Amino acid sequence: MKSSDTKAIKLSVVVSVYNEEAVLGQFYKELTETLSALDCEAEILFVDDGSCDGSRKILDSLADGSDTVKAIHFTRNFGHEAAMIAGIDHATGDAVVCMDADLQNPPAELRRMLDMYRQGKDIVTMMRKERADGGWTKHITSKMFYWLMNRLSDTRMVPEASDFFLLSRRVCDVLRSNYRERSRLLRGMVQTVGFDTATLSYSAPARAAGESHYSLTRLAKLALTSMASFSKAPLRLGIYAGLVFVLLSGVLLIYSLVMWMIDKPIGGYTTLIIFLSAFAGILLTVVGIIGYYVGLILDEVKARPIYLVESITGGGEKQE
Ligand code: UDP
Ligand code: MG
Repeated sequence: MKSSDTKAIKLSVVVSVYNEEAVLGQFYKELTETLSALDCEAEILFVDDGSCDGSRKILDSLADGSDTVKAIHFTRNFGHEAAMIAGIDHATGDAVVCMDADLQNPPAELRRMLDMYRQGKDIVTMMRKERADGGWTKHITSKMFYWLMNRLSDTRMVPEASDFFLLSRRVCDVLRSNYRERSRLLRGMVQTVGFDTATLSYSAPARAAGESHYSLTRLAKLALTSMASFSKAPLRLGIYAGLVFVLLSGVLLIYSLVMWMIDKPIGGYTTLIIFLSAFAGILLTVVGIIGYYVGLILDEVKARPIYLVESITGGGEKQE
């Protein structure tokens, strides 16, 4: 049983920010309006992921001297996931919500999420029911991604799960101490830890202003890393391809023997070329897959920090 039933809940809202000067004012207004209507104590942690526009200044002006707003500035751009992880690390609330700054994760949904937490849920995953951005390409690629993830890995991923979720204190503690992987998909990791989970659906509007930082190439890279960090299935490709080749060469051997016995030996050149090029293709693909996994292992072995904090403003502290 959680302590949420007996004392006032403190909610931490983690907001990842990368060059969002165009939306920050509107986002902050909507968020604070929502938070003031909720029956809970709240803190807002803006994680500035190395912004090079006016975001830093805006965040500092919101956080400076404030006890409830904190701006964590990274030394450079570490990526959206690193920003969420830093927010989770620094949050002090009983429940922590991660959300984007572009109003695609509507602050109004916080009420339903908090209700779920009050009912005892440790994780509230927000599933996009509709999305107004990206058009059919993002829609189809995201569907394919979740389908493949669910096929290849043992983790059951909620399709259309987003980076908008609520975690209880104990889930945050688990992530903070045991899930420090360099290659991961945070929303996938959240779904591997177990605990009592609720899924709510919501409509994701288009960005309030500014542009998405995720091109299809960047999304494809994220998909590849996520797939490799959740599944070892691609590594088995070599075994299957090897077995198919053994079978095929067995059939070819018997066929050649039979043809030779009935005095009609087959010409070997074409067969040889087809076999050799198919074999080389598969071999190189398998070596490439192994190489990719070795690269990921190298990153883990080096164990470099997931993010580096340059300074923190507000939330009762000023550090340089
Ligand atoms: N973001 C970030 N670091 C990055 C890219 C994005 O912190 O390197 C933040 C961004 O400011 C936004 C959230 O992550 O609050 C989601 O990014 P975006 O809206 O560009 O992605 P999309 O919604 O298009 O997938
Ligand atoms: Mg967005």
